[in-house]
Amino acid sequence: MVDFDELIDQYLMKETKGKKIGIYYPSEVGKCLRKIWYSYKYPMEVKPELRKIFKMGEILHDFIAEVLSSEKTPGVELLGVEVPVKMEMKDFVVSGRVDDLMLIKESGKEILVEVKSTKDVDRVKKPGEHHEAQIQFYMYAKGIHDGMLVYVDRRDLRTKSFPIPYDEEKAKEVMERFKKLHHHLTNDTPPEPEAKKVLWMNWMCKYCEYADRCERDLNDECQINTT
Ligand code: SF4
Repeated sequence: MVDFDELIDQYLMKETKGKKIGIYYPSEVGKCLRKIWYSYKYPMEVKPELRKIFKMGEILHDFIAEVLSSEKTPGVELLGVEVPVKMEMKDFVVSGRVDDLMLIKESGKEILVEVKSTKDVDRVKKPGEHHEAQIQFYMYAKGIHDGMLVYVDRRDLRTKSFPIPYDEEKAKEVMERFKKLHHHLTNDTPPEPEAKKVLWMNWMCKYCEYADRCERDLNDECQINTT
């Protein structure tokens, strides 16, 4: 008897490659900075369940690209998929790929699109701040100042989309986050546990694979500061 779950796990298995200090990713910048810092210092293997969720995200993104490029949807044109975005700063590089570049034919407007899969689109009431940070960076780097976040339900392909206008202040804040991350990595000092401190980020700790290490390190830091 062939076990297809096992076949899928084998197929999705990838060697864990460490990340290089000095190369940063827009898809991560909205996450807890401390967690990103840990992921550079202590790379961990991605769990099989998570690999499957990532794969579902890719499949859904391919589907949306198919919809945008179809002759059945003549009002829009797909100008690019997985469009590379790179920004070279003085001492580090930010590199990523925006999911889609779409043209609205009637208005001639070009829009950068990020597709996110979700387990229940009805629960998505507004765009995630961490997703908005990512697309603000893309708009800043590409000079295309219209963005859209599209959430697709993994169960039934229903969507909810949010236009994201360019906001220079937010884009600058994103760049400051990259600088801060680089500073902490090159100085070998962990950033503060922002997901514990910032209210909208609190949920991130529940899904953080570094939660135990973070707690332990915080206790150690606390003891050092009180002795
Ligand atoms: S446990 Fe929370 S605060 Fe600590 S690294 Fe993870 S997300 Fe950040």
